[in-house]
Amino acid sequence: MNMSTETMSVDDFRAEARAWIRANLEPSELPAAGRVESESLTHEDIDRARALQQKLFDAGFAGVSYPVEYGGRGLTALHERAFREEAMGYETPDFGVVGGVTFGAIGRSLIEHCTPEFLQQHIPKILSGQEMWCQFYSEPEAGSDLAGIRTRAVRDGDQWIISGSKIWSSGAHLADWAMCLARTDWAVPKHRGLTWFAVPCDAKGVTINQIEQINGDAEFCEEFLDEVEVTDDDIIGDVNLGWSVTQTMLVYERGAGDGSTATLEPRELAPDLVALARRVGRIDDPAARHAIAAAHINDFAQYHLGKRISDRLRNSAVPDPHVAAYGKLAAGVLTPVRARLAMEIGGPAALSWASGDEEHGRPALDYLNGRRISIAAGTNEMQRNGIGERVLGLPREPSFDTNKPFSDVLKAAQSWESKVS
Ligand SMILES: Cc1cc2nc3c(=O)[nH]c(=O)nc-3n(C[C@H](O)[C@H](O)[C@H](O)COP(=O)(O)OP(=O)(O)OC[C@H]3O[C@@H](n4cnc5c(N)ncnc54)[C@H](O)[C@@H]3O)c2cc1C
Repeated sequence: MNMSTETMSVDDFRAEARAWIRANLEPSELPAAGRVESESLTHEDIDRARALQQKLFDAGFAGVSYPVEYGGRGLTALHERAFREEAMGYETPDFGVVGGVTFGAIGRSLIEHCTPEFLQQHIPKILSGQEMWCQFYSEPEAGSDLAGIRTRAVRDGDQWIISGSKIWSSGAHLADWAMCLARTDWAVPKHRGLTWFAVPCDAKGVTINQIEQINGDAEFCEEFLDEVEVTDDDIIGDVNLGWSVTQTMLVYERGAGDGSTATLEPRELAPDLVALARRVGRIDDPAARHAIAAAHINDFAQYHLGKRISDRLRNSAVPDPHVAAYGKLAAGVLTPVRARLAMEIGGPAALSWASGDEEHGRPALDYLNGRRISIAAGTNEMQRNGIGERVLGLPREPSFDTNKPFSDVLKAAQSWESKVS
């Protein structure tokens, strides 16, 4: 039964969710706040997650804050959060990073920018776990300068032909569809002339290669797009106005769009670090206790910052990605700090572990992985730039290319390169 926002209080929804969760989901270990999950999911793992997601969907607990007409529950971010809180300690679908991208950033951006026909085709499949999505966004020469992408889409009758290469696409090897950013007009400045397309990951001309990371995972991929054919029906938003879709996605990607993706409340004193201190015999050591307290305070501050940002964005007519940047920056700064605290507590015992004993290897793996949140979805420096310029009103960074046609920018760069080489 789908009940709309006006007819169901958060408390009533919470009670309904709690009863359903207890009756239908298996208990599991509580996730630790601030912990960096490793990403070595297989297609079999994704299939298991799809089955569990379908169960949530059938019971009306998938897409709690998504519109009813597309298979969601039509409730609010607070209801969504209530479900997540109640489901802590129970097994929920684990799609890894591709799930975060699909449900957190992409699904919500599609809702804001796509036609009803597009949404009817895709959103119910997303919410029921049949379609996982990734982003074909960054390129080898366009990361922080995202508007500098060079993948092109050329109109050919009622089709578009996309060619170029993308990189760092989280979970692309496990995804069914990609949101792909391409340049559709080279005669205008770089932020204009961009268009987003929906591209099936198994389309002819798409090659996806996993990239192995420092911790042995291969969470993200590089892609080559060789004359990939899509149609007008696959356009996300409007032709040449892709930058506004990007702005929407950045709000959600920075994890504060609707409050549902913000860090969960730290209910206990950093349980993973307490367990680590016990395991290495340092639970009474003042230095280890100090490190645990420092981590807990950061977890707590991060949670409340996330909540405040979510509240502010929820009450804004147009959610601002630069306000969302505060939460992203906090995660980018505090995640590596937490990983370092774990290494300090673990000491030499955290540096070696038996092969396959991932639990004992966790502090070192988290440490190696700890920087990813400082880079993914925009580096810490770019968050600081955005906050400085767009929130605090500090002078803008000098820019030499924002008002020039992008084709002229490339020509100027080529002649400059030939002069210096
Ligand atoms: C774990 C992870 C997951 C990712 N997932 C995806 C994904 O799913 N899809 C996708 O498309 N991309 C993804 N990315 C890519 C990510 O968005 C880019 O890595 C990021 O935007 C930085 O771009 P870059 O790597 O090209 O670095 P660069 O832009 O080359 O930056 C290099 C350094 O210069 C600094 N810098 C650059 N410009 C400025 C400036 N104007 N002011 C101050 N400092 C500056 C940066 O902060 C950085 O320290 C992911 C990255 C990671 C690490």
